[in-house]
Amino acid sequence: MIKKREQIVFKYSEEGKKGYSLPPLDVEKKSYIPENLLKDENKGMPEISELEVVRHFTALSHMNYSVDEGFYPLGSCTMKYNPKINEKISSFDNFLMAHPYLPYSLVQGNLKLMKTLEDRLKDLTGFDYFTLFPSAGAHGELAGMMMIRKRLELDGNSRKIVLIPDSAHGTNPASSHFAGYAVKEIPSGEKGYLEAETVKEYLNEDVAALMMTNPNTLGVYEKDIKEIAELLHKNGSYLYMDGANFNALMGYVKPAEIGVDVLHLNLHKTFSTPHGGGGPGAGPVGVVEKFRDVLPVPVIRKKDGVYYTDFNIPRSIGKIRSFYGNFGVLIKALVYIMELGAEGLKKATEFAVLNANYIREKLKDTYELPYNTKTLHEVVFSENSFKKFGVKTVDLAKRILDYGFHPPTVYFPLIVHGALMIEPTETESKTTLDDFIDVMKKIHKEAEENPELLKEAPHYTPVKRLNEVLAAKKPKLKYKEEE
Ligand SMILES: *Cc1c(COP(=O)(O)O)cnc(C)c1O
Repeated sequence: MIKKREQIVFKYSEEGKKGYSLPPLDVEKKSYIPENLLKDENKGMPEISELEVVRHFTALSHMNYSVDEGFYPLGSCTMKYNPKINEKISSFDNFLMAHPYLPYSLVQGNLKLMKTLEDRLKDLTGFDYFTLFPSAGAHGELAGMMMIRKRLELDGNSRKIVLIPDSAHGTNPASSHFAGYAVKEIPSGEKGYLEAETVKEYLNEDVAALMMTNPNTLGVYEKDIKEIAELLHKNGSYLYMDGANFNALMGYVKPAEIGVDVLHLNLHKTFSTPHGGGGPGAGPVGVVEKFRDVLPVPVIRKKDGVYYTDFNIPRSIGKIRSFYGNFGVLIKALVYIMELGAEGLKKATEFAVLNANYIREKLKDTYELPYNTKTLHEVVFSENSFKKFGVKTVDLAKRILDYGFHPPTVYFPLIVHGALMIEPTETESKTTLDDFIDVMKKIHKEAEENPELLKEAPHYTPVKRLNEVLAAKKPKLKYKEEE
């Protein structure tokens, strides 16, 4: 691979170079900026031509990896391709220009859109109510756990502990803690899912809830979930399901029907907004009837054919988000659901599961698979097959960059040593998956024959192996000629 162009804009700077040409001034020169705020000179600023500016920023944009550029098998993140038309619809002027302070009468369409999305999510999950306001998965978890806490307190039975299996997502314990609970970890079984027998041992009158990621971070369906829900309910506890991985279940499982009380979804994974990059997200929360009076305000309602936002819910956990949440994300989710329809969503699930199992099948003889069961939407390999060559998971991941793919999620979940967590998603073709599988096999061979190659990788990216801690703590923001 040829090294990319030197990206420092200062290199092209020469005194007097300009990026514009204007006719000479034929009126009196006058500044509207107060004198004391003006700089004497643009000292230190690069002086470059228009073409150089264009090239510089175009080149920078190419240094970003994205799902539009290549395969993004980042496990747990569902980095799938999202149709461009959904972006386009979400940026229609009528949506973009709606000011959050407009009266209901002028945003009836937007409120109807939100209500319709709630209804579709209820159809898909079986819950009685949804709130669309949380801005992320973790934010949904917090809202959900606050509702559980409020419900228990109102019932005169506040409890202290939330049980969380070791195969849950890392945000689960954090959210429970934020909601004021002590977290107790509970071990999942050898087969990769939590067994009802284990739950029995941990239940007591202090347990407020069990928070379960399903499918869990191994990509394994929690087979005992129904039985676990019954045990919890008998104990006066609730079952929270982290449904961020819902693209493995859509059209097949309605969580409310298997005993789940509270659930969040990640619209910015399953429903047409990319996860990652810190962009806006939405983590709607679905609840069963029992939680009706503690829902966050406002609740969108319809009366006499008019939509409005109802703030009059005395036992509500309160407001958890300003205005209408991340409305653009809600638009994309509804468009996606309507485009695909019930059959299409089911097909998306089938392809997500098929693709993950295809990778599992093709790589399981090369890489060690600690939980060798059929997976749903993602598959997790360990470092055990290449550790013996002195190669670590991070080395392998860096080498993947040299072949033009984004690496999988590494070192997570923690129950797998040196984990490589791969989520292909439903949008990748067999050809792409085959390319990726070939690369993974090739790299494994390199690890055996030439481990140094991996330990020094990446070799072909704009920057080489970084000291990631130092890079975060002391970012190099200045260009120095001598370097
Ligand atoms: C991504 C994810 C979350 C957290 O979602 P954020 O929007 O990043 O806060 C929670 N649980 C699971 C299983 C996830 O995959």
